[in-house]
Amino acid sequence: MLTMITIGVDDTDSERGLCTTYLAAVMMERVGGLGTLVGLPRLVRLNPCVPFKTRGNAAVAFSLRTERPEDAKKIALETLMELSDFSGQKTNPGLVVAEEVPPELFRFYKRALGEILDVGEAKTIIEENCLWSRGFKNQQGLIGALAAIGARFEDYTYELLAYRERSRWGTPREIDEGSVWKADAITYPRTWDSVDRHNRCVVFAPHSPDPVLFGIRGDDLAALETALETIRSEPWERTVVYRTNQGTDVHINRGEICDVVEDRSYRLRGVVSQEPRAIEGGHLFFDLVSEDGNGSIRCAAFEPTKNFRHVIRELVPGDLVEVYGSVKKRTINVEKVEVLRLAEKRVLVAPRCSTCGKNMKSAGRNQGYRCKRCGTKATKKATATLPRDVDIGLYEVPPCARRHLSKPLVRMNGQNVHPSR
Ligand code: ZN
Repeated sequence: MLTMITIGVDDTDSERGLCTTYLAAVMMERVGGLGTLVGLPRLVRLNPCVPFKTRGNAAVAFSLRTERPEDAKKIALETLMELSDFSGQKTNPGLVVAEEVPPELFRFYKRALGEILDVGEAKTIIEENCLWSRGFKNQQGLIGALAAIGARFEDYTYELLAYRERSRWGTPREIDEGSVWKADAITYPRTWDSVDRHNRCVVFAPHSPDPVLFGIRGDDLAALETALETIRSEPWERTVVYRTNQGTDVHINRGEICDVVEDRSYRLRGVVSQEPRAIEGGHLFFDLVSEDGNGSIRCAAFEPTKNFRHVIRELVPGDLVEVYGSVKKRTINVEKVEVLRLAEKRVLVAPRCSTCGKNMKSAGRNQGYRCKRCGTKATKKATATLPRDVDIGLYEVPPCARRHLSKPLVRMNGQNVHPSR
């Protein structure tokens, strides 16, 4: 009897190597021989605040129409055993197979985007729905595997991943950077985040010892292919195109500052309450107060956000903004900011002479001001309004600092955007 099964896998890689998407790619090739793969595999990013993740917190799910579901499970498990890094401290592989996807898995996926879920709950859902599963070590990977099976994307993008030949794993990647710039020039804005123009670097290839050679992100399959054909590099073992929730802001919830919960991601509106201040290392902070005055939160633009900090530095008290980002230790790590209303930027300056109109000069420390032309004295400074070096609209961190789930402004057509590329 022909059935459709969906296979979900998570948490098989470690900081030292391997990659859950590579494992899934090999698994797809092997079980693909038992039937027909249905649609594109899904690369599912989950809560970026999960503390025990390895790298990007990515799970993978794909569907297969087959007459031999039992054989498919067997091969899937063998592949997982072969290509998981069981020695990784934070590696806790999970594999789940569902013949029918229960609707509650979609809710589980939605929660896994924003909450930190318990593996016990995942096991209960697996039991209650009689799903086939295998979990290893602390079995944390069952959470992502289950969420990946339940994932349905209201918005999505694509990522084409090219994987290295095994003999090259752990060696420096050979990629002709000029060809990557060319591919970007040809295919942007249908692809994005291959290069970072402002910071002059290629950002689509990892530096870790995992099997990924590079990943091309975009929303147009033909453009991904064009980019791939343009890029010159070491030969790859295989490429896989994933449909993914990356670049969609699906992790972001509109919230009120006073209701913020740790380890979740928000879009928060408020008024800048003080000049942004820098600390050692180039990190910038400012406080945001809700319009009703009922809550305040610290906002951070850390050094790795590079030129994004120029925008933050330009904010002044009274600006009305919305910040997007994840909350840790009562601080929102800003990924995007929308400037909604600009306040006047005022500074204190030496006053003009009330008699002759000439700019007065300081008469010495704590001595007020004095007009050099006519001798008139004044005690108080005057205020001047400075031009603003920031406009209304949305600003984002550059590609080199982008988090996987963050929606790039290049995708926000029709809005007042200032894309960073
Ligand atoms: Zn004067």
